[in-house]
Amino acid sequence: MDLSLDGQALPSVPPQKRSRVLLSCAPCRNSKLKCDRNQPCSQCAKKDRPEACVYAPKPVKKKPPPKGMSARLKRLEGMVRNMMEAEVEEQDPALGAAGLAR
Ligand SMILES: [Zn+2]
Ligand SMILES: [Zn+2]
Repeated sequence: MDLSLDGQALPSVPPQKRSRVLLSCAPCRNSKLKCDRNQPCSQCAKKDRPEACVYAPKPVKKKPPPKGMSARLKRLEGMVRNMMEAEVEEQDPALGAAGLAR
């Protein structure tokens, strides 16, 4: 046996890239001003229109399920269904009893 684990390098996980979200308010973004993200920000305060200082809501990105997930899910679903069916069979002594009583 000469399996040298030392030679095996661990798979390097690339650092997650954080997409920089521009959190400037709408007018600052439109005029490409530096926004200090206050409510209202200094730019809007300076222009005396705090009501215009609105921030876009956080973009909600829906992640599509990775491939292979659906197959796994189907399998889990089947398992759950089996379990449920088994449980139903177990929790159904009334029918059996009724059948016996008759
Ligand atoms: Zn701003
Ligand atoms: Zn603003």
